[in-house]
This record gives sequence, C-alpha cells and structure tokens, in this order.
Amino acid sequence: MIINKLVINSEKEIVHKIVKEILLLFKIEVHQDVPADYDIIEISNYVKKDIVFEVFTKIRFVKNSKSQLFTRTDFARQDENPRASANRLIKLNLYHLLTDNLGPIVAPWGILHGVRPAKIVHRYISSGMDKSAIAARLTADYAVSGKKAVLLTDIAYGQLPVLAASDHNTISIYIGIPFCLTRCLYCSFPSNLLPEADILNAFMAALHKEILSLREIIDAYHLKVQNIYIGGGTPTSLPEKYFALLLDYVQGLYSNDILEYTVEAGRPDSITLEKIKLMTAYKVSRMSVNPQTMQEKTLKIIGRRHTPQEIEKVYNDIRLISPAKINMDLILGLPGETAADVRDTLEKIIKLSPDDITVHALAVKKGSSLKSCLDSVQLPDDKVTREMAYTAENLLLQADYSPYYLYRQGYMSGQLENTGYCRQGSASIYNIQIMGEKQTILGIGGNASTKIVAPSFAYLKTLFNPKDLGTYLKSVDDYIERRLSLMREVYEK
Ligand code: SF4
Repeated sequence: MIINKLVINSEKEIVHKIVKEILLLFKIEVHQDVPADYDIIEISNYVKKDIVFEVFTKIRFVKNSKSQLFTRTDFARQDENPRASANRLIKLNLYHLLTDNLGPIVAPWGILHGVRPAKIVHRYISSGMDKSAIAARLTADYAVSGKKAVLLTDIAYGQLPVLAASDHNTISIYIGIPFCLTRCLYCSFPSNLLPEADILNAFMAALHKEILSLREIIDAYHLKVQNIYIGGGTPTSLPEKYFALLLDYVQGLYSNDILEYTVEAGRPDSITLEKIKLMTAYKVSRMSVNPQTMQEKTLKIIGRRHTPQEIEKVYNDIRLISPAKINMDLILGLPGETAADVRDTLEKIIKLSPDDITVHALAVKKGSSLKSCLDSVQLPDDKVTREMAYTAENLLLQADYSPYYLYRQGYMSGQLENTGYCRQGSASIYNIQIMGEKQTILGIGGNASTKIVAPSFAYLKTLFNPKDLGTYLKSVDDYIERRLSLMREVYEK
C-alpha cells in the first residue's frame, strides 16, 4: 500500500521507530506525489500513567479530503516495566487498528520484533506461569500466532536445564575472525576479504593480546570456561599457518573440562584436510559447515565459490577424521529458489545426517550487495518462503530433529525466524547461552560482543569490539582496558 504522507504526533524517536516498524509489517510505503491509497495517515498516542497504565491510540486515514478516525485503548500488565509496556501497547494498538481497517496480514510473530523472543518466555516461566498461560499471553500481548507461541514456549522450556546449570563464574568466550574468501551476496557483516600478510600479522598480534588479557581475567575471577566459539567471518579462511597459530593461542584459555568448543568452519572452500586435523588435535568438539543451499545455480548467484559436491566431501572428511559434532546452516528465500529446491536441499543435508541444522530465513539487510541489486534478482515472495519453512520443518521433524533455539532479525523473508534443530543430545550449549543472555560471554576479535551478566541477572554490561578492522587494530588496547574495567565493576561488587 502507498500513502503520500505520514504524520506521527510525537517527538520521541522511539515512537517514530515503532510506527515505521508496524508500517513495514503491513508493507505500507510513503511516497510523495504519486497515486496513493491514502493521502495521509496520521497517528497519535496518549499514555495515561494512572493506577492502571493505559495507552490510547488514534489513527486517521485521509483520502480526497475525507477523513476516517479509528481509536483503540489497551492496558499494561501489572508485571510489565512501564516504558516497555508503553512501546508494546503503541505497537499492539496500531497492529489491531490496521488489521481491523485494512484487512488481516500474515504475520506469524505479530508485533514481537526482538532478536531473542525466548527471553520473554523465560521471564514468564520465572514468574510462575504455566505453558498454556504463556502461549496465550504471547498471542494476546504480541499478536503471535498460536503455532509460533507454542513453538517458542516449547523451545524456552527445553533450554531451562542448560541455563540453570550455569552460574556466575561459568562463562563462554567468543572469538571473531573477520575474514572471508569472498563476500556472499546477502552478507551484511563487516567481514573483510582475506588481507595481505602484514595485516594478518597485525590482527593475530592484536588477538593474542586480547587472549592473554582474557587469561588474566579467568584467573583473577576464578572463572570456568564452559564454551568457546570461534566465529566470523570465516575462521577457516585463515591460511593454515595462521589457523594453527589461532588454535594454539586459544588453547591457553580452556582446560580439559570445557563443555563445547566450536569453530565456524563455514564455507567448504576454506576447509582443508590439514585444518580438520588441526581442529581435531586441539579438541574442537563442534564444527560448523554451512552450505546455505545444495543448489549449484544458487551457490553461484550468492557468490560462493564451491559446489554441493565439495560440501559433501568436506562433511565426509570431517566425519572420517574427527569425532566433533557437525552443524550445518541453511537459508530459506535465496534468489531464484523454489520450495522444491529447498526440499531437495533438505533431503540432501538430512541424508548426510549432521548433528544440528540451523534454518535461517533470508534477511535483506542494509550493507549487503543484495540490497543494492534487488531489481536484478528474483526473490521468492513471503508466501513461498513460508512454504519453504513449512517443508523444512516437516522434513526435519520426520528425521528426528527438534527445534532447540530460535532468534529473529529485522527484514526477514516471510516474517519468519531462524531456528536451530538438533538430534537428541546435540543442542549447541553456546547457542542457548548466547540467546539466553544469562551467562557472561567475553567477546574478542573483530566485531565481537562482550556481555557481562551481574549476579542474579540483575543487569547486563556490554562492550562491542569495533566492526572496522583498522579501528580494531588501532584501539585493541583501549578495548582490553574497557573489558577489564567492566569485569571489575560487575565481578568485584
Ligand atoms: S561467509 Fe558469512 S561472513 Fe563471510 S561473506 Fe558469507 S555471509 Fe558474510
């Protein structure tokens, strides 16, 4: 739908953000001076902070000087934070007003927009709600579909033993290697093509400093490292000499009782027999090989330099050499793909039998080449992408995989989610911890995030290493100092 003008009667940036988010959900675009469905849409919200917190929303549609006004009021829950509830109620009011007046849309997640929706369910569980009450509340408060509400609730319950088994002194470590062999069409990460030796040497030296600093932190606060995750980028894009050095440095961070050690090997064209042997020698317990699709035509379109056969070969090489669990990532909604392509990909992947499979929905993000060439590629529409998700889900459930973690991003095809499926006993503990945000995760390297969790989860302190490689190299000492200072603040309280 096109409108010529949007009026938001608020000076608050957050209100403008919320309104735009909802308009995007309804695919309402604002274009001046073109034939439009409405000349103006005007939105106003009134927040009443009384005994019962209340949000009243007005929406006015103007067409050919005739206007229609619709209103809706909703009330906060007693257990809600007032600011969060105001934002939620503005969204919910708008969602219902637009649905009532423009017709329903397919939005399986309703107004639930955050990256970590399972955290909401964990909060409900802590407050003593049971499964059916939680699912009902997700539908009432966030307009989440019944099916997604049950899926999310089941996943959150399944994560409880892992989250409960961690304590304040148990941490994970993330190491970001911001290099790739080529740049994928849809990539919006600040990853760099593999640089020359001088830059690589500088990066390895900076990373080594961070690793030594982490070692000091671990010793000073008597921390136990539960999981290490080397991600990126593509860590295995490092030449063998550097990759061996990386694993050697990282060895200084863990002891034999580490629960999970993942290397995101990512792209098969970056994995050699030597690198698999190295990972095996350093006891990497989980390797991620990410085909995204098993369709050769799509691999070419998305800028990957490998074939489906190479994916199978690398998978089989790892199985022969290493006892590590193998994860594989797929993307639904890639350019030119059909539901039949996705079925074929899933059948091929399931035949390989990886331990866990993460199914992503394509997100067309700013900063990706895909965003700037949308006119020249053919993306499956939302309906087809949802059909793909349905196909993938059924095939995975039939093959004994169960969903165990889930997250969302902006601009996802089909208003879907990214879901990790695993075979019994193969859930990635790190994936659950990073989504749960109940465990301190120290992030080092390019574009890594540190999240330091206070006792009893009272608050979270964050630090984000620079996205830009040059800035990272220049400011690594500063980030080491800032991380130490945050650790002191939280762990010495
Ligand atoms: S492998 Fe991942 S990080 Fe590297 S270019 Fe592709 S999507 Fe981006």
